[in-house]
Amino acid sequence: MKSVDEFRKQLNYDLVGVPPIRSFEGLPPGEHPLSIFPDGKSVVVLGQRIRRGDFRAMEEGSLWQNPGRWLTDFDNVVRLIEDQGYECVPYAPMDAANMPKRPVRDGLCAPNGVRLSIEHAAVAAGLGEIGYHGMFMTRQFGIRQRLGLLVTDMEIEPTAMSKDGVICDACMECAKLCPLKSISMTESDSFEINGKQMRLGAINANACRSCPNGVCGDSKYFAGAEELHYEIVNNQIKGETRSKFARGGLPNRLAAACGRACIAHYEATHKTGYKMPFRIHEPWGFRPDEERGF
Ligand code: SF4
Ligand code: SF4
Repeated sequence: MKSVDEFRKQLNYDLVGVPPIRSFEGLPPGEHPLSIFPDGKSVVVLGQRIRRGDFRAMEEGSLWQNPGRWLTDFDNVVRLIEDQGYECVPYAPMDAANMPKRPVRDGLCAPNGVRLSIEHAAVAAGLGEIGYHGMFMTRQFGIRQRLGLLVTDMEIEPTAMSKDGVICDACMECAKLCPLKSISMTESDSFEINGKQMRLGAINANACRSCPNGVCGDSKYFAGAEELHYEIVNNQIKGETRSKFARGGLPNRLAAACGRACIAHYEATHKTGYKMPFRIHEPWGFRPDEERGF
């Protein structure tokens, strides 16, 4: 079995984690990473810091630029793994046309039914946690990273869970500064992944879907996906028993008012090395139901 430190040193990523396969036990087949490579032995989660400047234009309201939340280019790591004699299947949430709706053989998941939660795997790998707003956070970068996942038949030692305590300090800035009041300050669910306990605020997913404050639709399975029309209770779409992590179905909110509130709070409470603070002006915010005045 390859040591995770040795594996990490070979890669040029800010975050490298290997969740234990047992941390996915109990997930529905479509959310289990081995559904994309049933003979895989290890799941690898990779992360790259997103440059702070990628949020600047949205923070100023000067230009609609949205940082993507998923890594999509795995060429180097896949070649590195293949050069050592193993195979590797990278995963990206996708909307491929004409994917079969039924499994190709018994015991497999239907190709159009695969919806892995990369954030779930990242927490299970000890890389970070899900914050109160439902987005993945790390101690190093707050919410500013994009994530990717791959499955390989190379056996890699799982990473240990961090014992450093919580990252989200429940400041509630994300809820207070949501112009649509979509994140409840009083209703929350507790959520556990691989022994890590987290507290997630109840979210009105429909409001996020129509939020004009920096939300980005990055896949049919995310913004605009049908499940967003439903209510999310206890991390599940009400009346639906398949999904274990419904917040993965929310649109990309990294640069939305809630995400930027979290960045501003993270920067106010952590050393980041930037000379200029992230938040220079009062945060702006629109509501879809307000009068436009023009
Ligand atoms: S803004 Fe505060 S409460 Fe919200 S996720 Fe970030 S740290 Fe947690
Ligand atoms: S996406 Fe918009 S509506 Fe949803 S929590 Fe963030 S700021 Fe509020």
